[in-house]
Amino acid sequence: MSLLLERCASYTRARDARNAGLYPYFLNFDGRDAGTARMADGREVVMCGSNDYLGLSTDPRVVAAAAEASARYGAGCTGSRFLNGNLDLHDELERELAEFFGKEAALVLTTGYQANLGAISGLCGPGDLILVDKEAHASLIDGARLSRAKIGWFAHNDVDDLADKLARLPRRGGVMVVVDGVYSMEGDLCPLPRLVEVCREFGATLLVDDAHGGGVLDKGRGTSAHFGLTDEVPLITLTFSKAFGSIGGAVLGDADVIDYLRHHARALMFSASASPANTAAALQSLRILREEPWRCTTVADNAAYMRRELSALGYEVGAGSTPVVPVETGDELNTLNAWNLLIEEGVYVNAVLPPAASPRLRTSYTAVQTEEHLGRALAGFAAVRDRVLAVPVVPAVA
Ligand code: PMP
Repeated sequence: MSLLLERCASYTRARDARNAGLYPYFLNFDGRDAGTARMADGREVVMCGSNDYLGLSTDPRVVAAAAEASARYGAGCTGSRFLNGNLDLHDELERELAEFFGKEAALVLTTGYQANLGAISGLCGPGDLILVDKEAHASLIDGARLSRAKIGWFAHNDVDDLADKLARLPRRGGVMVVVDGVYSMEGDLCPLPRLVEVCREFGATLLVDDAHGGGVLDKGRGTSAHFGLTDEVPLITLTFSKAFGSIGGAVLGDADVIDYLRHHARALMFSASASPANTAAALQSLRILREEPWRCTTVADNAAYMRRELSALGYEVGAGSTPVVPVETGDELNTLNAWNLLIEEGVYVNAVLPPAASPRLRTSYTAVQTEEHLGRALAGFAAVRDRVLAVPVVPAVA
């Protein structure tokens, strides 16, 4: 067998977990509604593991917009926006996103992953330097790698370390600093005011991936608006797969930057455009979000309530203020066990294992969960508590 295929044959991590009956990934859902999901085996679970922060992915208005767009434009665009896959819907979404988020222009790509790839590798190249927060999302890292710029790392949310690196690293070309607005696994915010300050001091271009803050913080206007710094952040990226209940992504920035990316972002130019259904759904979600800012307040309230109640039950939860609430579970085996115990209780969360992050359960909340949904989730956490917390929580190793 070739060396490469031998690698696959000797990969046992997933197989071992499956054999032990503990494998928590690639599960089928048979149906979903606002607060629950039906698993393929018919079990109904309370959903505390989606990114549907505003509950829009199943909103009838969003679903209808997707269906209407499919009927009008077809199921797919069959090509990239650059050549033959551009719709008035894409342009309309860009105009409304730019206006809502307070930037001059927007560029819509097919996923948030591609938005990051396109923005970073479209702007940076050999001779440039990209400094990346150590906890940054994989798509930011992949975008940096694709660019062939030099990559440096700074400790998570440590602006002093960043400033130190900026001062010391050899520089010839441009410098980009890349962070998440809200970190997807821990739910913590980036220290934006100081990041802006240091980037200004060293002439670096800041990119904030607001996949988890866009549509959620500051009545949906995101992390930069939350800090009152939208004008100071030259590049913001978004995904439509979370608060917007669809699929797609966008880069927001000055008009000349966005026009440059239109002609340099390979992730845009060489991949088919977001489908009519997904584009229309994202546009409809944006319009609903504008009209219904209560969704942002309710998701924050639900997450704060769960953070409080889970700690009262004895769980160690993250200290953030976003809809992402990590629950410490110690080691990998205990994380898998905890996940399985919770699913038996009808509570769906995400089991997170390295290399994504240190072992934990990632729970996340939405604007459409009712008291009854959250009560069911808490009852599940209470029922499994003694077995989950029997294993001491080891402090996470970075
Ligand atoms: N950035 C962050 C921080 C994310 O969490 C994700 C999705 N998990 C992405 C980007 C990629 O978004 P998409 O699902 O639209 O590709």
